[in-house]
Amino acid sequence: MILLKNILVLFTGSEELSGTDLLIDGTKISRIDDGIDPEKLGKPDIEVIDCSRWVILPGFVNTHHHFYQTLQRCVPEVQDSPLFDWLVTLYEIWKHLDEDSIYWSTLVACGELLKTGCTTSSDHLYVFPAGASSRFIDVEIEAASRIGIRFHPTRGSMSLGKDQGGLPPNEVVQLEDEILKDSERLIDEYHDPQTGSMLRIALAPCSPFSISERLLKETRELASRKGVLLHTHLAETEDENSYCLDTYGIRPVELMERCGWLGRDVWYAHGIHLNDAELEKLKATETGICHCPTSNMRLGAGRARVPEMLKMGVRVGLGVDGSASNDTSDMLAELRNCFLLQRLAGGSSAITTREVIGLATSGSADLLGRDDIGTIKEGMCADIVGIDISDISHAGSLHDYLASIVLCGSNHNVHLTIVNGKVVVRDGRLLTVDEDEVVRKANEAAKRIRDA
Ligand SMILES: [Zn+2]
Repeated sequence: MILLKNILVLFTGSEELSGTDLLIDGTKISRIDDGIDPEKLGKPDIEVIDCSRWVILPGFVNTHHHFYQTLQRCVPEVQDSPLFDWLVTLYEIWKHLDEDSIYWSTLVACGELLKTGCTTSSDHLYVFPAGASSRFIDVEIEAASRIGIRFHPTRGSMSLGKDQGGLPPNEVVQLEDEILKDSERLIDEYHDPQTGSMLRIALAPCSPFSISERLLKETRELASRKGVLLHTHLAETEDENSYCLDTYGIRPVELMERCGWLGRDVWYAHGIHLNDAELEKLKATETGICHCPTSNMRLGAGRARVPEMLKMGVRVGLGVDGSASNDTSDMLAELRNCFLLQRLAGGSSAITTREVIGLATSGSADLLGRDDIGTIKEGMCADIVGIDISDISHAGSLHDYLASIVLCGSNHNVHLTIVNGKVVVRDGRLLTVDEDEVVRKANEAAKRIRDA
């Protein structure tokens, strides 16, 4: 049992409470009340944590990432490139990925996510080089489990190499039957649909310009048969719109509609270059959008119209995207960048701090089909974050401590991260891995792949 005592501000998702206590029993939040007396609980091993200087809120949920890209941060050749050129250059590095690099990059990404308040993450792993291991997803599951994050890996794929009119080189695409077979294996082996699940698989062909229409349709069929979610990149750039118009004679959303890819079990990364009718279609079908503001600014891709989406009732969450286009896995920074980008484009009332926090918690949880995380309530999974606002970067923010977690702070490391009732980050340090070892091994892997 863990008792969070005397919480300065508790944001539950719908309420902001002050001075209250929160009790965790096993993997669940069991009680939220004033003055819970640990002596009266009859549990000698209860841990009591003083939260009188902390904002406590639901753990953030990250709905788009490419963990392996933590090994390609700041690559000089693509620092100033638009998406298609950026991809074409990086494919040449990614074709040397191996199990070791997947393992350590997963620990880097998840480590930074946990340290910046994220308790659940998806990952979109779509590069499976010819001749390399076919067990990349298995390896990242092993690493994510070791570090203790709630995990939604998506089985990505590319099947349309250069020779077939796609963007990626032939060495990083797979046969479609092989992709579908491995997708089914992963679902059968790992997918846990139960409440409180620590691991769910989704299926995620990479993007309209690296897969075929057949793969989209057959992946949809498999996802429906197995009851798993679908994910891909969509409407990230105008180049993608042009590719779809040239190749299929229709825009990306129409292509997705033709393949059965609209619905509550689908969420897309980006959703920038969408017209009004396409937004209406997303709303009508309850299709979700993961907003990735930092990546979109970094690549100059554009801005998703999030305030309009929220007004219309489109389902929206937040994601850091891969680290070759962010280049961090910093969830708190993602909240601030979302706030600032939307304000820059839409004016001073475009979005509020509470709306941004909502995107990163309940909004993102909903995209992943979860009603057991993303808010703080009795009976919910104990995924909780504590942010110390007593340091110099928060001084003077007493007027609105909850807003201060978006607007203030120069060090985005949270003080406390609890996942499924277990403390994973304490005093800003990861408890489940040796951080120095992770950094050393990741740097070795990054260099090996770069020099290959
Ligand atoms: Zn992405």
